[in-house]
Amino acid sequence: MDFSFSAPELAFAEEARAWLEANVPPAWRRDHCWSRADDPLWLGIARDWQRKLHQGGWAAISWPREHGGRGATVIERWLFEEALDRAGAPRPAAGAYVDLIGPAILRHGTDAQRTRFLGRLLSGEDLWCQGFSEPGAGSDLGALSTRGERRGDGFVVNGQKVWTSYADVADWCFLLCRTEPAAPKHHGISLLLVDMRSPGITVRPLRQITGDAEFSEVFFEDVRVPAEMMVGAPGAGWQIAIGILAHERGPVWTFTFQRTIRRSLERLLGAARAHPAARRALADPGYRQRLAQAHIEVELLRLVGYRSLTRLLRTGQPGVESSIEKVLGSETDQRLQELAMEVLGPWAMLDEECRRAYLYSRSETIMGGTSEIQRNLIAQRILGLPR
Ligand SMILES: Cc1cc2nc3c(=O)[nH]c(=O)nc-3n(C[C@H](O)[C@H](O)[C@H](O)COP(=O)(O)OP(=O)(O)OC[C@H]3O[C@@H](n4cnc5c(N)ncnc54)[C@H](O)[C@@H]3O)c2cc1C
Repeated sequence: MDFSFSAPELAFAEEARAWLEANVPPAWRRDHCWSRADDPLWLGIARDWQRKLHQGGWAAISWPREHGGRGATVIERWLFEEALDRAGAPRPAAGAYVDLIGPAILRHGTDAQRTRFLGRLLSGEDLWCQGFSEPGAGSDLGALSTRGERRGDGFVVNGQKVWTSYADVADWCFLLCRTEPAAPKHHGISLLLVDMRSPGITVRPLRQITGDAEFSEVFFEDVRVPAEMMVGAPGAGWQIAIGILAHERGPVWTFTFQRTIRRSLERLLGAARAHPAARRALADPGYRQRLAQAHIEVELLRLVGYRSLTRLLRTGQPGVESSIEKVLGSETDQRLQELAMEVLGPWAMLDEECRRAYLYSRSETIMGGTSEIQRNLIAQRILGLPR
């Protein structure tokens, strides 16, 4: 097996590096993952960065050229993400939504939806949020009860969503709701694109353990949504959602989280060499073993990521193997952040990024589908075990 890159791929990586070198202002560069907690100017910077990426044709490089991409291969996407990392680029305002609602509209949307939404998603003019989970429907998403009742030339939406990331700043929500009440559970769900400024929407931010309020409760009371805002056919929402969730635990992990985890390990090793208290910990064979194990797991994650990329390359879609990547990645990160706390001791509490990464890692085995649910999927769909 040859893991080396071809000459055109290396030329592409060099083009990306040079563009980033010229376009990421020094003040925006960071050696860790940017978040809204880093800077009160987060949103402004994220939007400016998104606009720059779009103008340079780098906002969604694997999309078709006619929709603002550059038709890049999966390997080129990988190389670009690595270059973004090395440049210390900030997180763009569109975030993971380019990989979530973007492909869904490309694949299932109407021409009018593609024209109206895709360019504005890539330029950062429209920010998005994902309205799937409800108080009574998280792991069992098919149990959702938010209703979209057909009335005249549109739908009237009533219900509640929860844990909706970025709902407080989003312009649009891709919302799963029940439009066909008589149909069997999974066949009665549709996907609507809802303007977050519509009358009847209330957003209540929820504070997380990190201190940020990244997600919110969202209440819908008689919210009117035009019929042309439905993606796909009535009742096709479940199938479209399965595709979105596969991207959430597949490419989004491959391209973003796993590099964040690698960077956390590098930061830990750097910090451990720098702090006297940590150097004492490094003399302990137990900690040395765990650091070596962390390195092995981060390498494993890279190889599992390559396998996901191969699947994407061959079929254009992430496969059920993405569940392996999600479990391995989220649990590796939790072990790594715990190790950082132990090795760095009190220093960890003084390091804002280290403290935040530890607290945030708690959410990684929950978001995008919990580890228990991923293990069920692996048991049933990869190992062929009964339900
Ligand atoms: C940081 C973060 C951001 C998020 N952002 C969004 C967002 O933007 N949009 C959105 O829609 N949602 C979002 N979510 C919600 C996320 O998708 C749900 O939290 C997740 O799907 C789990 O659902 P739940 O919280 O309702 O837990 P539940 O489904 O109530 O599960 C509770 C516990 O029971 C276990 N469990 C449930 N069913 C089974 C089973 N069949 N077998 C074994 N164990 C089971 C679960 O693993 C879990 O441990 C976010 C969550 C987090 C943490």
